[in-house]
Amino acid sequence: DEDGGEPARPRPVLRRKRNSFADLPELKDIHTQRAVADLLKVENPFFRVHDGRAGARTEIDGRSLLNFGSYNYLGLNGHPEVSAAAKAAVDHYGVSASASRLVAGERPVHRELERRIAGFVGAEAALVFVSGHATNVGVIGHLLRPNDLILYDSLSHNSIVMGAQLSGATRRMFPHNDFDKLEELLAAHAHAHDRVLVAIEGLYSMDGDIPDLARAVALRERYGVWLMVDEAHSLGVLGKTGRGIAEEAGVDPHDVDIWMGTLSKTLSGCGGYIAGSGALVEFLKFTAPGFVYSVGMPPPVAAAAIASLDVLEREPERVAKLRANGLRFVEKAKAAGLDVGDSAGFAISPVMVGDSLRAVYLADRLLQRGVNALPIVHPAVPERAARLRFFLTSEHSDADIDEAVAITAEEHAALAKAGFGVKMAAA
Ligand code: PMP
Repeated sequence: DEDGGEPARPRPVLRRKRNSFADLPELKDIHTQRAVADLLKVENPFFRVHDGRAGARTEIDGRSLLNFGSYNYLGLNGHPEVSAAAKAAVDHYGVSASASRLVAGERPVHRELERRIAGFVGAEAALVFVSGHATNVGVIGHLLRPNDLILYDSLSHNSIVMGAQLSGATRRMFPHNDFDKLEELLAAHAHAHDRVLVAIEGLYSMDGDIPDLARAVALRERYGVWLMVDEAHSLGVLGKTGRGIAEEAGVDPHDVDIWMGTLSKTLSGCGGYIAGSGALVEFLKFTAPGFVYSVGMPPPVAAAAIASLDVLEREPERVAKLRANGLRFVEKAKAAGLDVGDSAGFAISPVMVGDSLRAVYLADRLLQRGVNALPIVHPAVPERAARLRFFLTSEHSDADIDEAVAITAEEHAALAKAGFGVKMAAA
């Protein structure tokens, strides 16, 4: 050694056993649940392979089924005009944007899509990201810092919660749609923080209900906080022309600070957007890590979303048909004795079942009878609130809905009669 002293002795290594992926507790839970399903001879309802385009019908194992498991709310995914736009973009640009728009430059379709989204939702500007989930995680995580505060609805999507965690801000959850409680929290805590964000959704994807947006806007005013609305499920669904919850509630879109949405549902692509003031969008465009350090949206996806907006703006009757379908589903289900919880009769309705195993079993029975509707089980919802979830599209006919409700009611009643009462938790 250079000082001519004693050579450094190698430090003793403390032996540790490398963790085994196979022993991770979450994985063990999944295996236990699968073993129980196997005992009941119920097929795994998750990761099924669907062929072709999912709309009012879908194809599984060569069978055509009535489909209530897609977010293709207005039937735009697979619409000839949308597919043609994507194909033309592939021919012109190739598939990938290859790098961040900041360094590698953007394509005309990026700018056009952002202009169109901003125009459609009634905001000054918009910015698109490559994933809806990553939009919430990245934007909330970036906008708030450890001394800030976020208040979010207890039924908020995972991406909102993950963004809140990433930010390091103080997190407070208020009971679902309980704005009295939200106001209490705001009154008690808002003054003590620099930035305060209230995050809600336009249409909740578990219960199919909506918040009182006018009240949320009044609280935003009163307490001087930012209001963010996730319109993943409400864009194209709420409001007479599908502009979302602001249109539905008769609220000025400028009274919401951050509009967030996804391109994966009504807009038949993939990715997320933020729409709001020019300052918000400029801030994110130059500083949000999930935008700056991530690839730009693939041009064919952007082109498909633009074409989807074209069809949506031209054919608002699709929105009206979806609304009529949502209301019909709820009305028929109630008449058949099914419990649709708090569904407001938009594109999403649960049918309450009561425990995870029954939900998985019922979904399997429906599948055998030609209806695809997925079970939602613990931990996505509390165990006693396990349910089937029906997503409507504007493409469903009255007969499709009536048939699905009739089959569901029959199978639900048969299950109750059989006294099928095994609890997933007990397995
Ligand atoms: N927000 C909400 C409310 C969602 O339901 C979802 C996904 N279903 C997302 C964000 C994430 O969007 P994406 O699937 O497009 O990544």
